[in-house]
Amino acid sequence: MSSPSFDNSYVRLPDRFFARVDPAIPPAPSLLALNRRLASELGLDLDWLEGAEGGDFLAGRLIVPGSEPIAAAYAGHQFANFVPQLGDGRAVLLGEVIDRQGRRRDIQLKGAGRTPFSRGGDGRAALGPVLREYLVSEAMAALGIPTTRSLAASLTGETIERETSQPGAVLVRVASSHIRVGTFQYFAARQDRDAIRALADHVIARHYPSAAEAEQPYAALLEAVVAAQAELLARWMLVGFIHGVMNTDNMAIAGETIDYGPCAFLDAYDPSTVFSSIDRDGRYAFGNQPQIALWDLTRFAETLLQLLGDTPDDAIAVAETALATFKPRFAAAHGNGMRRKFGFASSRDDDADLANTILAAMQSNQVDYTLFFRRLSQAIETGGADEPVRELFVDPTAADEVLHLWRGRLASERQSAVEISHMMNSVNPAYIPRNHRVEAVIRAALDGNLGPFEELRGVLSEPFHARQQFVAFEQPPLEHERVRATFCGT
Ligand code: AMP
Ligand code: MG
Repeated sequence: MSSPSFDNSYVRLPDRFFARVDPAIPPAPSLLALNRRLASELGLDLDWLEGAEGGDFLAGRLIVPGSEPIAAAYAGHQFANFVPQLGDGRAVLLGEVIDRQGRRRDIQLKGAGRTPFSRGGDGRAALGPVLREYLVSEAMAALGIPTTRSLAASLTGETIERETSQPGAVLVRVASSHIRVGTFQYFAARQDRDAIRALADHVIARHYPSAAEAEQPYAALLEAVVAAQAELLARWMLVGFIHGVMNTDNMAIAGETIDYGPCAFLDAYDPSTVFSSIDRDGRYAFGNQPQIALWDLTRFAETLLQLLGDTPDDAIAVAETALATFKPRFAAAHGNGMRRKFGFASSRDDDADLANTILAAMQSNQVDYTLFFRRLSQAIETGGADEPVRELFVDPTAADEVLHLWRGRLASERQSAVEISHMMNSVNPAYIPRNHRVEAVIRAALDGNLGPFEELRGVLSEPFHARQQFVAFEQPPLEHERVRATFCGT
């Protein structure tokens, strides 16, 4: 039995990149959830993790040899306002491990107490948000979407004060790295050119090694980050994910979804959907997400200007060229994804128009985004089971129109009905972490009942595999079950 073998590259960067800080010692930790599959992917010793030492390690009570705990410095635009110093205010990076596939992964405790970056905060995390992040991040991973992961969640044995008193908890988060757009902004704001270069070199070596071979490595880095985010945003939009706080400090340079705060999934299709209680103007509404990502990437490009050209004009031209690739890349990824959602293996020029027409009908008829695509595939399987699709529309005749358009387009496909529905069901999830379900799990957990958490976690682990006993989990909320607002809970 052995503790994790750490190999920490971030602490080899200059001292001003982080503060060394130990996690707070939780008075009475107890393990709520352990992600065994992820643990073995990381090459961790399960017997050790499940033992007493492992439990202490996962809650921040035991610092194992090789772990060099730090809080990272970063800045960020929060709702478009620049804050020159944010940083890990309630998270401590324990170190990095090399996983079974040779990939470097950060292991971080979130909710591990105050750090030099805590500002006014208590450095703690409440049970509700920890369970939300655990469920939603793991659901995203099961959907095949790049994301930070959740290795474990523990109660700390403390009570913390939020809107109400809540049990304190700590999440063990795993990421390709925790380097954010805001990490670059921290140094740009201080005109620390050496730090920007060192950070860019670190990121190239760690995440985008092929950029090192390019004629202009830093331009290649920017292009690679733009490409990763364009792909990521397309994936979000295809499953109806709303991040909720796309501040620049919440955009990971590695292209993973990070910082699950007030995130939620669409039920009815509507681009103006906002759940986050702090997003009063709808800046981070579902339909705004791609353009916000580009806004954040533009802030990233600004931090790199000194590396992109010998004169400011040259540098700006290089940055603009790279940023200009976002829209076509997003459109291509989203368009291809939409085609698969509709069951089209081939590609036609008017597919985007068709998708937009159908989405518009879904919006005006308050159609559940996720259920629609599952039922659509059933409408092929049984050779015309239209009723389940029609039921989703406020005006069922609008569904007839949609089905007519869709079948017209399907007629130009060569594949069999079985093949088409198979493809559709492999990209259209039956199960997403619907907000009312997540809230119900949290309410039960606050009453000491983790059964619903375990059940939902199991349901979401195979999102494309519909199982008869879980049919209720496919359903959108009834009117009285609807949860309209989510909170960061920080
Ligand atoms: P977030 O909204 O989680 O992206 O966090 C934004 C910033 O606030 C980050 O610098 C966090 O570390 C910090 N922060 C959030 N919650 C707390 C807390 N409870 N105590 C200290 N800092 C916090
Ligand atoms: Mg954040």
